[in-house]
Amino acid sequence: MKIAFIAHDRKKEEMVNFAIAYEKTFLHHELYSTGTTGKKIMQNTDLKIHRFMSGPLGGDQQIGAMVAKNEMDLIIFLRDPLMAQPHEPDIIALLRLCDVQGIPLATNVATAEILVKALERGDFAWRELVHKYKPGDSE
Ligand code: PGA
Repeated sequence: MKIAFIAHDRKKEEMVNFAIAYEKTFLHHELYSTGTTGKKIMQNTDLKIHRFMSGPLGGDQQIGAMVAKNEMDLIIFLRDPLMAQPHEPDIIALLRLCDVQGIPLATNVATAEILVKALERGDFAWRELVHKYKPGDSE
């Protein structure tokens, strides 16, 4: 599965701890992130992550481009609900695209944990069907 990590600055430590806790699970997946989030996770785990640009510089939009094509399977986006972000429009756009495509998205660590446990159980197998029968692929 393709999994994306994004964490706002005051949530990065929580994200790193989450990645450490589920490192063995994430090792089996294709990982993506915004710039700094991925850098911090890789500094603290053995995970290999494709890093896009930093969020405020367009990283959310780059992940959003994959979501728009229904290519991302799970997003863990630890947002800071107590601080305004300069790239708020990009954040809203990413959340909207997840709803357009029906992509599982966690915006806090409690939900992230439930989704990762579901991933471990194999509950995301339906995503393989999405990839197999993507509109346009059969034409
Ligand atoms: P970053 O981007 O991982 O590069 O910090 C995340 C964000 O702040 O949107």
